[in-house]
Amino acid sequence: MARKDERIAIIGGGFSGLVIGDGLQRKGYKNVTIFEKETRLGGKLHSIFYRGKSYELGAIFGLPTYSHLDNLMKRLGIKVDGPKLSRTNYNSDGQKVMPIAKEELGGFLEEMDRLPKVLSKYKSLESASIKGLEPSLMVPFSEWCDMHDFKVLKTIYLHYFTIFGLGDIDEVPALYVLRIMSYEHLMCFMKIPQFYTWKEGTSTLADHLGQGIKDIRLGQGVKDISKSALGSLQLETQYEVLEFDKLIITAPLDQFSHLGFWEEDIRECLRSIKYQDFNVYAFIVDKVPKGCGCILDNLDPNRKGHIIIWDSRWNQPSGEGMVTLYAYNPPKDSRKPPLDYLKDDLARLGIKSARLYQAKAWKHCPYVDTQTLQNGFYDKMEASQGRNNIYFAGEVMSMLSIENTIWYANDLLDRFF
Ligand SMILES: Cc1cc2nc3c(=O)[nH]c(=O)nc-3n(C[C@H](O)[C@H](O)[C@H](O)COP(=O)(O)OP(=O)(O)OC[C@H]3O[C@@H](n4cnc5c(N)ncnc54)[C@H](O)[C@@H]3O)c2cc1C
Repeated sequence: MARKDERIAIIGGGFSGLVIGDGLQRKGYKNVTIFEKETRLGGKLHSIFYRGKSYELGAIFGLPTYSHLDNLMKRLGIKVDGPKLSRTNYNSDGQKVMPIAKEELGGFLEEMDRLPKVLSKYKSLESASIKGLEPSLMVPFSEWCDMHDFKVLKTIYLHYFTIFGLGDIDEVPALYVLRIMSYEHLMCFMKIPQFYTWKEGTSTLADHLGQGIKDIRLGQGVKDISKSALGSLQLETQYEVLEFDKLIITAPLDQFSHLGFWEEDIRECLRSIKYQDFNVYAFIVDKVPKGCGCILDNLDPNRKGHIIIWDSRWNQPSGEGMVTLYAYNPPKDSRKPPLDYLKDDLARLGIKSARLYQAKAWKHCPYVDTQTLQNGFYDKMEASQGRNNIYFAGEVMSMLSIENTIWYANDLLDRFF
């Protein structure tokens, strides 16, 4: 029987940490503390304001198929009240293009017909935590598509996956692509639904949860974790050392690979986590481009550094306003400064004298490669849940998206608390 007076620490005040903190309190745990290294809550839910309107440096939207998000919003009384999103595809010369050519439409319909049957074989996609991962989900997504003769779907997925900074499908294992963009979400996304957005931005979600959590320590990053002689866990921040009975880590896990008490295989797992270098830039421009535009040519790995998407979010009046741009880091050997890539691209779109308002470089979409999956990454991580009274959550466990974050957080609470 769980003791409700246990002292439980959560590292990370992003959405995972907040959902878990809120869930623990609702289960009756009295001593829950969240440590967040930044002075704001929300992590990758990161809305900023300009002339009274919200813009996003992190997550942008939810989908109507996000049922866990729906339940959470209903419970917290949050309404979908943000701007309507649209999407137009362009080539690098700024001309509108179709995501798939007309002659590919027949093949596309046939593949979409086959997809649910193929996916139904993968039982590991059906639960929040990954058990018994099928070997064919461990290979890079493009190889998985070739295996199932999905030619057009490969392009469709490339567009929807790589556009959001989730990486190169020739490298990222199929597991990640198919969990982030399940059949249900893909179908919904393609219809360009009424995306879920919020007037005050995605930070609304974090703020609502944060208001109900009693003990949040902002600006207090956890630097070290050790065990006391009596077995409790000691968390060291830049200010003090505090004792807890249990710990849930939702912050990027690789930063804790050095801890002395991990078994060697867990240390190896934590060291093997990789990220995408994906950046969001909020520019003030003299002429705001309309809507949300994707530059499909720039998805080519050789075009890294160029604008992949822009989003003007609100129907802004003509004249000066804000646009957010999304781009991977330029190639490491490039001498051209990252901002020059973006300003040149903006100039090609007819926008001059852009000035940077805010930017954020993300360690985006954590994943492990094929080899690490084959070495049993998720089996090892899940088997070690609760060992040393430490639990793992957050993006590499849940796989990125607002929806998956809630799904995994709730599942962890059901399994262990
Ligand atoms: C640019 C971008 C666009 C996205 N778009 C979408 C979208 O449109 N729809 C969608 O569903 N999802 C989207 N996502 C993904 C979604 O935002 C994330 O999957 C989700 O918010 C992750 O929450 P998290 O709490 O697991 O991780 P994070 O948000 O990364 O939270 C981790 C927290 O831990 C803190 N931390 C780190 N180290 C320490 C430490 N040592 N001590 C204390 N605290 C620490 C961090 O500061 C951070 O607040 C997007 C993400 C990005 C970056």
